[in-house]
Amino acid sequence: MNMLQITNPATGKIIHEVPADDAASIAMKADTARAAQPRWAATPLDERVAAIRRFRALLVDELEPLATTLTREVGKPLVQSRNEVNGLLPRIDFFIEQLHPAIADEHVFHGGGMHEQISHIPLGVVANISAWNYPYFVGGNVIVPALLTGNAVLYKPSEYATLTGLHIARLMHEAGIPKDVLQAVIGGGDAGAALLAQRLDGVFFTGSHATGVRIAQTMAPRLTKLQLELGGKDPSYVRADADVQAAAASLADGAMYNTGQSCCSVERIYVHESLHDAFVEHFVAAVVGFKLGDPHDESTYIGAITRAAQLDVLDAQVADAQAKGARLLCGGHRLPGPGNWYAPTVFTRVDHTMELMREESFGPIIGIQKVRSDEEAVTLMNDTRYGLTAGVYTRDEATARELLARVNAGSVYWNCCDRVSPRLPWSGHGDSGIGLTLSTHGIQTFTRPKAWHLRQP
Ligand code: NAD
Repeated sequence: MNMLQITNPATGKIIHEVPADDAASIAMKADTARAAQPRWAATPLDERVAAIRRFRALLVDELEPLATTLTREVGKPLVQSRNEVNGLLPRIDFFIEQLHPAIADEHVFHGGGMHEQISHIPLGVVANISAWNYPYFVGGNVIVPALLTGNAVLYKPSEYATLTGLHIARLMHEAGIPKDVLQAVIGGGDAGAALLAQRLDGVFFTGSHATGVRIAQTMAPRLTKLQLELGGKDPSYVRADADVQAAAASLADGAMYNTGQSCCSVERIYVHESLHDAFVEHFVAAVVGFKLGDPHDESTYIGAITRAAQLDVLDAQVADAQAKGARLLCGGHRLPGPGNWYAPTVFTRVDHTMELMREESFGPIIGIQKVRSDEEAVTLMNDTRYGLTAGVYTRDEATARELLARVNAGSVYWNCCDRVSPRLPWSGHGDSGIGLTLSTHGIQTFTRPKAWHLRQP
């Protein structure tokens, strides 16, 4: 049997080996999911909700071991791993609360002997191919509403978050979700590709743009519902009237939390020239104050780089920025192993010729660019192929609203960043993806609307 090795990125040590799926076992899982789905869809809503409530309770009961496992396999600081598991709870609450209103039959017309109605029926068997950086969030955003709405789910956690994926599946089963209705598919990209070869009614992917495009190409001839939640190059603008200290503290956190490995990490900062130098001073002070080190230490804020290959991306962006004249204020290099470590890095005097300001860094590295006007800031914020999130820091709400209305992004922030709400849709423009999760739309997305035209005899 093919074994998948799990490496702790903070130590470089192999911590586990788990059996990986092959094409035959994946085909068998897809068949059993297909056979089990109709019965699950016919299970009363209350029973489906009760199982998800038990799953929620198990997350609370097992918080410490779950957080520790996540830290061991992705190198995330333990405090942030706890935050992530805890952060799934309000999302589950929202899905449960909004399930009935989101999928109840809609009686939209009655007259002249005609009755018109919309019902929301489950898609059927859906695949969730997931990223490693927030496995509870990106998995939970799909698995929970997909199950609640009556789908069977073939869940492929990232090969970098396999143990967490297995925990999620185990807890779902302990909570009463039938084993065939939620199945983990274990492995790397090859397992993902084998999963896509099955008969599926929906594909929900979270990961990089490159893989997302590959998946879209694979699925195109099959006309299967496809959602892609991809990367970003998320900008923030600090306006001349902003509270400079508060903005610097907020953006340092937004750029470095989760070691910069968030889809909605702040990746570019534009600062009005009138407060640029003061902002940079506060920002760098905040960044060098973040404790880097053992992810299990309660006071650690910056952990390991999960994928060793990302170190090359960071090195290349640093070299490119330096070659083109950027000014390095801190970091700019790997830290000695074992494990994958990168010093938090801040550049000023950057511009859009630099990779650092154009391509996702996905690490603790940031460029700060001086601008002369709101116009210039908006133009630069929109000068990107991505469009996940964008923010403005200012004391003036009307101006913030006016600027944010002109920015091409799925989520926009006033005086905040790196924030996700279960009540709001999570989606990207451009190369940040298609489709959405969260909000009531992110429940309905796991159903298809059926139109009923009923004429009384
Ligand atoms: P990735 O694209 O390398 O992998 C994602 C998943 O795809 C993994 O499970 C992987 O095994 C699988 N995969 C790889 N090749 C495949 C193939 N050919 N066919 C099918 N599946 C395949 O991404 P990653 O490194 O896990 O995640 C980081 C990326 O995810 C970043 O770009 C980040 O911005 C993005 N992300 C986006 C969001 C969002 O909500 N928009 C959230 C989290 C992460």
